[in-house]
Amino acid sequence: MQPTYSDEAEAYREKVQAFLAEHLPHDWKGIGQLDGDATRDFTLEWRRTLYENGLLAVGWPKAYGGAGLTSLEQVILAEEFARAGVPAGAPNDVFGIQMVGNTILQWGTEEQKRDYLPKILSREHIWCQGYSEPNAGSDLGNLGCRAVLDGDEWVINGQKIWTSAGHLADHIFLLARTDPDAPKHKGISFLLVDMRQPGVEVRPIKMISGESEFNEVFFTDARCPRGNVLGGVNNGWGVAMTLLGYERGEAAATLSIRFRGELDRLIALAKETGRASDPVIRQRLAWCHAKVEIMRYNGMRVLTRFLAGHHPGPDAGISKLYWSEYHKVVTELALDILGPDALVPEGRPPSSAFQPDDAGAPNSSASWAMTFLNARAGTIYAGTSQVQRNIIGEMVLGLPKEPKADGGSWSDLQKARA
Ligand SMILES: Cc1cc2nc3c(=O)[nH]c(=O)nc-3n(C[C@H](O)[C@H](O)[C@H](O)COP(=O)(O)OP(=O)(O)OC[C@H]3O[C@@H](n4cnc5c(N)ncnc54)[C@H](O)[C@@H]3O)c2cc1C
Repeated sequence: MQPTYSDEAEAYREKVQAFLAEHLPHDWKGIGQLDGDATRDFTLEWRRTLYENGLLAVGWPKAYGGAGLTSLEQVILAEEFARAGVPAGAPNDVFGIQMVGNTILQWGTEEQKRDYLPKILSREHIWCQGYSEPNAGSDLGNLGCRAVLDGDEWVINGQKIWTSAGHLADHIFLLARTDPDAPKHKGISFLLVDMRQPGVEVRPIKMISGESEFNEVFFTDARCPRGNVLGGVNNGWGVAMTLLGYERGEAAATLSIRFRGELDRLIALAKETGRASDPVIRQRLAWCHAKVEIMRYNGMRVLTRFLAGHHPGPDAGISKLYWSEYHKVVTELALDILGPDALVPEGRPPSSAFQPDDAGAPNSSASWAMTFLNARAGTIYAGTSQVQRNIIGEMVLGLPKEPKADGGSWSDLQKARA
């Protein structure tokens, strides 16, 4: 199967390629060529170039700062960026553009769209995600962070955890319980909160890699205006699920480009280290090749549905489950190929804890060892593999639902658990 795009679409691809050729150094091989501060500086500078050329959030209408591209043009742009090994934005843009921005477009009032969306693009607002709590991860509907109305403001008290890049953000979208007497999924609201206030405290969490990419966030009488509810008071669950669809499924059509690049690097490593002639290693590499090909076909399926106007929903869990489980296996193979070298990581580490290392990254032991550790987290964040299997089983395949033992109001459930 080799799908082809229309002549019109290919003409747009040429435009994107010309843009990349004009704005990237001529010997560019991907952002993985850069290290440390240079990676961060390039990313911010590149983001500015994209902003100035109207190439951030390209699917958003022009009225809100987007480029108003068709679905097909968006996909072609994403493909070309992935092939060139350049980011589509800065790290927190995943939360700002991909997650909350797209969700505001779907659920926001006209005023919210005009107020928030341009500020996401200009980086006047830098966002993070406040969903998980110590007692509400997979069982997100159990969340206990409270918001109570006081005049024209919500007063927020409670704790969030695992807040990725929260230390770099100044805004948080959070799920708060606004009616404890309603059933647990019905009394939740989706709030847009400015973190630049005394009632919000961010405490970094140290990871096994030694880095701190995520945080605990504490709210003590923090405030936001009454109008900062997205999708209506006590209607946050539906809004939250819309956002999770964007979190899990948005990049499905370009995932295989990144994972193919990673596998090509691993094959090169096997050759460099003389392991490519080992029949067991060859067999394991062939298995990875088959998996990445299946990922590519699944990407085409997602793309076909996207072009037909389908927003990612529960089926986004298929791509998420697939790439995250695959990534654990391929990075384990990398460490087996490296052998004892994997125990003394050296060279350039990955610039981010998510998915494969950057395109163009050297085959350093630090790249593979850190990506191996980070891959463990891939089957947890954005919903664990077990939870994805439940969602796919129940909401995509229509299998019988798990028995639920949590009827009644949220406050009664808390009393029963105490
Ligand atoms: C790197 C990373 C970044 C993250 N970033 C963010 C972020 O920015 N914002 C945010 O809000 N959250 C974030 N998270 C949190 C993430 O969403 C949660 O960790 C995840 O939802 C799981 O929740 P939990 O950790 O409480 O585990 P639990 O829910 O306690 O799960 C423990 C185990 O039980 C299993 N389990 C639970 N329920 C079921 C069930 N019904 N059926 C079968 N098995 C089940 C799970 O699969 C898991 O194996 C991040 C997590 C990681 C690892």
